[in-house]
Amino acid sequence: KQIQIAIDGPAAAGKSTIAKKAAELLGYTYVDTGAMYRAITYKAIQSNIDLQDGEKLTNILNKTSIELKPSPKGQLVFLDNQEVTDEIRSKEVTASVSEVAAHADLRKEMVLRQLEMGKNGSIVMDGRDIGTHVLTNAELKIFMSASVEERARRRFLENQKRGISTNLEELIEEIALRDKMDSEREASPLIKAEDAIFIDTTSLTIEEVSEKIMQLAKE
Ligand code: C5P
Repeated sequence: KQIQIAIDGPAAAGKSTIAKKAAELLGYTYVDTGAMYRAITYKAIQSNIDLQDGEKLTNILNKTSIELKPSPKGQLVFLDNQEVTDEIRSKEVTASVSEVAAHADLRKEMVLRQLEMGKNGSIVMDGRDIGTHVLTNAELKIFMSASVEERARRRFLENQKRGISTNLEELIEEIALRDKMDSEREASPLIKAEDAIFIDTTSLTIEEVSEKIMQLAKE
């Protein structure tokens, strides 16, 4: 039987770390939907497209290939057959992605692609609308959050590890703004699905959260 696990929550809540880990332990495919919105945002910035123009962005998306490929280094992201794994994490893309992700028609196309990815085999998918609009019948739905300060602190440490210097205050602002845009948009806003299990990870370690999810997955 195919099992689907949906993990949603605000920015930097640890969704991808946990989803990746759970997928590994369970032997499921991991799909990071945020990377898809980041990839089209990267392309739009590179091509100087007006990010407010949803119709244009959707037309471009329709002619764009976005592939997520697992590798020992983690998930690799390919945009029109070019690897953009690191490029889509830039400050510039992060600052613009919520604006792009707000367009309803663009989201429709993304959801179609995500459903296609979920067709073959068991998956763990993370994002903002997976439980509410993508894997609506998922066997397990999780909504993960943590205080904005804690999320910024984690992102800060993660950046440090990757050799990127960031400012904690700036991170708090960036994360809070993205949460606000993602929750207040009209098209499938960030919200907990009614049947999702809420996990506040503020005072939990990665091990504790993944332990919890593995337990729920076994039920
Ligand atoms: O998860 P990540 O932080 O990489 O997502 C980047 C952005 O993509 C989010 O802030 C949100 O605007 C958008 N997104 C979305 N729906 C998803 C996944 C991501 O709107 N399912």
